[in-house]
Amino acid sequence: MSDAETIRADKDRLWGSLMEMGRIGATPGGGVGRIALTELDRQARDLFVSWCEQSGCAVRVDAMGNIFARRAGRDPSLAPVMTGSHLDTQPLGGRFDGIYGVLAGLEAVRALNDAGVTTRAPIDVVVWTDEEGVRFSGMLASGVFSGVYRLEDALARTDPDGVTMAAALEAIGYAGTAPIGDSPPAAFFEAHIEQGPILEAEDKTVGVVMGAQGQRCFHVTVTGEEGHAGTLPMELRRDALLGAARMVDAVNRVAFQHDPHPVITVGSIDVRPNSPNTIPGRTGFSIDSRHPDNDVLLTVEREMNEACAAIAAAADLEIAFELVSERKSVSFDEGCVCSIRDAAGRLSISHRDIYSGAGHDACNLALAAPTGMIFVPCERGISHNEQENARPVDLADGCSVLIHVLMERAGAG
Ligand SMILES: [Zn+2]
Repeated sequence: MSDAETIRADKDRLWGSLMEMGRIGATPGGGVGRIALTELDRQARDLFVSWCEQSGCAVRVDAMGNIFARRAGRDPSLAPVMTGSHLDTQPLGGRFDGIYGVLAGLEAVRALNDAGVTTRAPIDVVVWTDEEGVRFSGMLASGVFSGVYRLEDALARTDPDGVTMAAALEAIGYAGTAPIGDSPPAAFFEAHIEQGPILEAEDKTVGVVMGAQGQRCFHVTVTGEEGHAGTLPMELRRDALLGAARMVDAVNRVAFQHDPHPVITVGSIDVRPNSPNTIPGRTGFSIDSRHPDNDVLLTVEREMNEACAAIAAAADLEIAFELVSERKSVSFDEGCVCSIRDAAGRLSISHRDIYSGAGHDACNLALAAPTGMIFVPCERGISHNEQENARPVDLADGCSVLIHVLMERAGAG
């Protein structure tokens, strides 16, 4: 094991691969715009496949266009240990979100090759199709792999132009033939930039991800009565916007009644008739609430609902409080979480436990296999933005943790 213990990611090689991949779909603002199943996505996939083949991997593509690059183990009958993420981006996205997880997996393969380490189980580096959901639906392909969605339903999804996912996969040559889930993983690990500010603020290099927050989103409609801004006395008004404004304040206050706080956001509002000299008769607004504990999330929902209802009653307004989407929280596998924490400790890389505020393919995989995630800091927590940035040394350290986790799980030495 002594040789294997000294293996580290090659910082410059990993950074070089990230920068080379970032040229495909590069935007003037320094980011990347590479929407899933476009010509640019094809180029990125082709580059990844060529790199994997040069590293001795055998590449399979499944019916959702997920790419699996396998580094063989000594025992081909063993289930693979899998790692990876996504290569697609937001329209004005960054060079690291998703791409880091894919290329950290590739760097792991390259580093194991350099060190001459053979594992017992195979290692698969995977690219999940359309994680971002800009064109079809986010995390759909990893969801099909994990049994969340049916293949037929997913392939029949259409983009805003009416093109089906099946046709889009065909068009870029990535409608693969490998059956979905033909080689289920023994475990899955995803490396990813944090997309939040916590690691950087605390000067920690690795986030040991415990799980991902649950999310419940609502649409609230407040109905009052329109009236003339000059003639209707204040005490007679049923101003829907004023009621909504008080509700926005009230739901934010609910967040501070819990420790740890849920994150609650009102980010969208519409006012009818939206005229400077008419008292608003109806106002709709969104609420996005997230917390790692599903029970807390339900309590938060009740408290927000009650607070809004009380404000409506006091102002003689009607209110409709509707759930529009939900995603349950995910807890990652204790064994995988420990593997990551222990590997960071052995490598003397600073770390802390953390929850993911965003959804990731790993959240789907957690339903199908023991799963863990490794976060690394990104500059000022900025993501889904051309300015997204990360330090080569942090990316390499996160990758070194990944390498050691993969070696442990796949049986090195
Ligand atoms: Zn991502």
